[in-house]
Amino acid sequence: MSGERSSPFESETLDPSNWNEALDVGHLLLEDMVEYLRTVRGRPAWTPLTQEALTSLREPAPCQGTSIAEVFEDFRTNVLPYGLGNIHPRFWGWVIGTGSVAGVFADIAISAMNTNVAGFQSSATHVEDAVVGWIKQLFGFPDSASGAIVDGGSVANLVGIAAGLYAGDRVRIRDLGITASGLRPVFYTSTQTHFSVVRAARLLGVGEAQVRKIGVNKKYQIDTALLIDAVETDLRAGLHPTMIIGHCGTVGVGAFDPLDDLADIAAKFGMWLHVDAAFGGCVVLHEELKERGAGLDRADSLSFDLHKWLHVPIDAACILVRDRQAHTNAFGIDAPYLADLGGGPASDSNHFTNLGLQQSRSARGVKTWLLLKHFGLQRLGEMVYKNVRQAEMLGRMIDEAADFELLAEVQLNIVCFRYLDASLSIDELNELNRRIMRHLHEEGHAIPSPFKIGDEFAIRCAITNHRTTDADLDYLLAAIRNFVKARTT
Ligand SMILES: *Cc1c(COP(=O)(O)O)cnc(C)c1O
Repeated sequence: MSGERSSPFESETLDPSNWNEALDVGHLLLEDMVEYLRTVRGRPAWTPLTQEALTSLREPAPCQGTSIAEVFEDFRTNVLPYGLGNIHPRFWGWVIGTGSVAGVFADIAISAMNTNVAGFQSSATHVEDAVVGWIKQLFGFPDSASGAIVDGGSVANLVGIAAGLYAGDRVRIRDLGITASGLRPVFYTSTQTHFSVVRAARLLGVGEAQVRKIGVNKKYQIDTALLIDAVETDLRAGLHPTMIIGHCGTVGVGAFDPLDDLADIAAKFGMWLHVDAAFGGCVVLHEELKERGAGLDRADSLSFDLHKWLHVPIDAACILVRDRQAHTNAFGIDAPYLADLGGGPASDSNHFTNLGLQQSRSARGVKTWLLLKHFGLQRLGEMVYKNVRQAEMLGRMIDEAADFELLAEVQLNIVCFRYLDASLSIDELNELNRRIMRHLHEEGHAIPSPFKIGDEFAIRCAITNHRTTDADLDYLLAAIRNFVKARTT
């Protein structure tokens, strides 16, 4: 230790040395980003990274800094042009939101605040509570329910499933572990479930083997007779049927499990009902679609993505848990470094830490609040409805065309189809459709994503895109026909 009374670099900070210059760079950057969104339609939906860009990204870690202006020049050249494409009007792959200009502003706003929403007395905690309250109302959850904004549907599923696993007397699983608890929990879901449900069972120690994937009917809904059989078989074997995971919009084809029936079955056998409503939950936003979500209000826990069909910038999702105690059973903590002083910022310090995996948490609730207030539920519902009608339209176009085949009924916003050539075998057709999709992707024409219906390779369009126009759907089919024609001539 030197005896000096001043620290090295004591007048240095990471703030800009010239705030006005920094602001000028910021203005230019913002102009660029808004222009980037304004002109998105004119660019390919996807662009492969150039060799130069890849090489530039392999630089060693920077020891000396560079001006913001220079760094952003590098970003503009080597990063910005090569996104995944989900901001493009013809992106319909997987299930990914489009984002928005207002979302860019919202991200800037919460980054400037850089507040930690573990809990504490701060506006962001109250804003997140308010947003969760709105979402509870949307889904008919009682005021007494708890909820939090998390980073996505996968984590929302994990949180809801953990709450269900440790609910009530099963809290002894939390305390003793599964083996010592003497319980042998089993989960039930359909073959159409999202992998995050299975992963939750893995992480919670329930084990993949205890996830029963029940068969589905023609509409890809869980077969409730098979479900009851499976539960009764497990009961006879001395296992503990613990939870049903139902779906409001499955990831593959957008199917709706009969949630009211699942709630009845769960009640009859004393099981928890978790509903994965990642994107399908958006049906509650439109009068014409609402009916499809019947029974959502009977879930014990419900996961709902905000960054998919509501277009909050990635990442954000919501988990609701009807029984607050079950929620805090799973995640509640008590730590001396989070002691409550009864006033000031250090009060209610672990409000949200008690409801999920994170302690330090970003203000996802604030960005969601900004965007819900800006767009309003009505307009967001209209964008959802537009996409549903577009999916129905695309489904009809395919159904009526001799050279295309619909592989699954359009139930919401997802269209699974393939190009059809009667002279080809199944394997050849699968290969042709795989090639078609790669061509669409690599040329940046459109981004559907792959799926399998039985043994058939499906081109799957999940339309959660407020920028899509009807003409974009015509473009898709024309691009496929042009590709096939070019191959055969
Ligand atoms: C997308 C999706 C998930 C996972 O959500 P992420 O936000 O991607 O983690 C879970 N279930 C369904 C039905 C989904 O569509």
